[in-house]
Amino acid sequence: AFELDKVSKRYGNLMALDQVSLAFAAGSSTALIGSSGSGKSTLLRVLLGLEWPDQGTVKADGLVLVREHVLELRRRVGYVIQDGGLFPHLTALGNLALLPHHLGWSRERIRERAEALVALTHLPQSALDRYPAELSGGQRQRVALMRGLMLDPDALLLDEPLGALDPIVRHELQDELKQIFERLGKTVIVVTHDIAEAAWFADRIVLMRQGRVIQDGSLDDLRQRPADPFVTRFVQAQR
Ligand code: ATP
Ligand code: MG
Repeated sequence: AFELDKVSKRYGNLMALDQVSLAFAAGSSTALIGSSGSGKSTLLRVLLGLEWPDQGTVKADGLVLVREHVLELRRRVGYVIQDGGLFPHLTALGNLALLPHHLGWSRERIRERAEALVALTHLPQSALDRYPAELSGGQRQRVALMRGLMLDPDALLLDEPLGALDPIVRHELQDELKQIFERLGKTVIVVTHDIAEAAWFADRIVLMRQGRVIQDGSLDDLRQRPADPFVTRFVQAQR
């Protein structure tokens, strides 16, 4: 579970997050949407202790997040970075191994865990030994997802996990991801630009604009009870 209480984050004069208060219950799924630059990635980074708010508090599982907790938090929260963020000079397995290796896992344990995840994400076994440049976009996204799942986290934060995929692969992966979320029963927060995708992944949609939460509700709420004209424009622009 996560909680933000009046969290603000400024870059120079820019309010990347402006008094954001939100709670994400354990086991719940939420989609975070909004235009480019609305603060979605910043919000995820603040939840993970990769950025620190200028004001307000972040709580993870009821405890106020402080620097001493960050390493422990990263063990328990999987993070799939926007654009995958795989290291090009490491194979898929090498990328998956980074954090577990750092935590002292043996090679065997790492490979075993990776092989178990290959089955879950429908990646061919042989892909583990390839470099990111030798994988398709869909396969890279699958590896990025696996990396987020290596430590069997309680929660998963995904930043546009289907970023730049062709529509068919995207559709396939949407199905698979949803099954994975449902099967694992974790707290999931997924960032996407696409309102249909948001509704597919989660009953709860949080729409952001210029660092603020404009609306927090179901797709139906956004359509039938828009909080302001921007919501209507955002919803209609994607039909
Ligand atoms: P996108 O959909 O394009 O990924 P976003 O909603 O994830 O956008 P953020 O990455 O959270 O947006 O950025 C919010 C605002 O903060 C943007 O205006 C961005 O330029 C600014 N910003 C983000 N990170 C930094 C940084 N490290 N330094 C300066 N400005 C930043
Ligand atoms: Mg972003």
